[in-house]
Amino acid sequence: MLRENLHDIQKRVRLACQRSGRNPDEVTLIAVSKTKPVSMIQEIISEQVFDFGENKPQELRDKYELLPKDLRWHMIGHLQRNKVKYIIDKACLIHSVDSVRLAETINQEAEKHGIVMPVLVEVNIAKEPSKFGLMPEETLDFIREVSHFTHIKVNGLMTIAPFVENPEDNRFYFQNLKKLYVDIKEKNIDNVNMCILSMGMTGDFEVAIEEGATMVRVGTGIFGERNYQI
Ligand SMILES: *Cc1c(COP(=O)(O)O)cnc(C)c1O
Repeated sequence: MLRENLHDIQKRVRLACQRSGRNPDEVTLIAVSKTKPVSMIQEIISEQVFDFGENKPQELRDKYELLPKDLRWHMIGHLQRNKVKYIIDKACLIHSVDSVRLAETINQEAEKHGIVMPVLVEVNIAKEPSKFGLMPEETLDFIREVSHFTHIKVNGLMTIAPFVENPEDNRFYFQNLKKLYVDIKEKNIDNVNMCILSMGMTGDFEVAIEEGATMVRVGTGIFGERNYQI
């Protein structure tokens, strides 16, 4: 079941690349394993997928401990400052930086570990009141500000697009995030390397790829529905 789901998603990623004239090597599929057991992750690893996304720091840490150490763990959920310590030496990329205070904490923790932490800046591209992330128009100034931290490196932008029935409804938002990404890239800000655009989930990853996503985060499409009771 899992394998078939995965192969179907991988095929749809390839087709979306084809349609938009992109090289599939430019797009990383992140298997979002939140709430799912280690046994399911192992099944996905056996299919040569090594990028996993989690939204709870403790869950990321616990799964990290139980699984091979060469996996790439992506911290994709809202991150509280007091929990940065759980993931600082385990995550390969934090997708959800949305405040200077959080950036500062990540910087401090990274310094303690003698590393430079790659991060993405989360943008609330549709300006939904319920969502985390910076407003698009404040993103450039925010990146200029956090670019001064020496132990984090801004590598791009991330967004969680609105929940919609028809993925076409999000195309405009993906286009807007891509534009913002290109605008910021063209500023050539010191210590910023805009190379990652993390957008698209189960419901809309194909449209996101057509509009330039370099990372898509797919949970339900691979692992099935999540049950939050357990
Ligand atoms: C849960 C989650 C996903 C995956 O969502 P699906 O709709 O299950 O693919 C992607 N990104 C973030 C930030 C998430 O929290």
